Amino acid sequence: MIVIDGSQGEGGGQVLRSSLALSLVTGQPFTIHGIRAGRDKPGLLRQHLTAVQAAAEVGGARVSGAALRSCELTFEPGRPAGGAYHFSVGTAGSATLVLQTVLPALLCADAPTTLRLEGGTHNPWAPPFDFLVQAFLPLINRMGPTVNATLVRPGFYPAGGGRFDVAITPAPALQPIELLDRGAVERVSAVARVAHLPRIIAERELQVVRRKLGLSQDALTVEEVDGSAGPGNILTIAVQSEQLTEVFTGFGERRTPAEAVAENAVQQVRKYLAKPVAAGEFLTDQLLIPLALAGGGAFGTLGLSRHAQTNIAVIRSFLDVVFETERAPTGYIVRTRSG
Ligand code: AMP
Repeated sequence: MIVIDGSQGEGGGQVLRSSLALSLVTGQPFTIHGIRAGRDKPGLLRQHLTAVQAAAEVGGARVSGAALRSCELTFEPGRPAGGAYHFSVGTAGSATLVLQTVLPALLCADAPTTLRLEGGTHNPWAPPFDFLVQAFLPLINRMGPTVNATLVRPGFYPAGGGRFDVAITPAPALQPIELLDRGAVERVSAVARVAHLPRIIAERELQVVRRKLGLSQDALTVEEVDGSAGPGNILTIAVQSEQLTEVFTGFGERRTPAEAVAENAVQQVRKYLAKPVAAGEFLTDQLLIPLALAGGGAFGTLGLSRHAQTNIAVIRSFLDVVFETERAPTGYIVRTRSG
């Protein structure tokens, strides 16, 4: 049985989610202790518990320790099966992180899958739905499977209540990809969304983006969103390049001025554009498991965050893979190969 220390490195939810994902794919059982020991509220929160339950259902797993605030868990998977699933976080906790947990196993499952996911769709510290659809899933689709996600309604903290649907056509195996740099930047655009909040918030955000990134008016869109359970504000800046699209997000928060939300997203874009790398910080995190499963591939990045390094350590507990990081004039190249 693989033993995972949930407090290692970053000590966050990723250690648990990556363990669940890789246990499902490899069929290896694991036990984890110190779950999310590095976070203010350690143990399983509703979102993590939903991820455990989702993984158990997809993989016909036997689980012990799956309870709110539990810091220890044992997971013994069966064989992951494609099919129709419905997972609901039940709070504003991130539903995209539930997808992150079950997706790797479903990419190469025995049959297609449809997933209905409910909870938060645009949470700070989680992949926003727009990032999934514009940045992450197109790269997964290049590796063989076909994954399409559709937003039914957004869910923002604290009301939650969002929903998105995902259709997965699996492939027999994931193919490696190489994204050494992003190629020429073709278009930078921004969408500012408000739900149950004044339109002026979105307009103020886009003014900052226009001024600081020199975008023309036709690259800026305000969207007033209907149908969410509660208020929310999200600023999405997409950098579309020859090789891929990257997405950077500013999350509106009470008592944070619209200008500060926009400034934060602009800083992320500037940092990315300063080097010709392919992947920003979060895409770097999220490409590690697919590349490890493909047994090869490489991408250019600004560097490996502590989060990414922790993820690599967890991946290596389940898979015999090596990640090599080379310094390049343009940043870093992360290469994966079987060990
Ligand atoms: P953890 O903090 O360990 O629960 O992991 C958070 C996960 O959300 C990681 O996979 C991050 O890459 C991802 N993530 C956090 N913020 C963003 C963001 N703004 N855009 C895309 N992904 C994100």
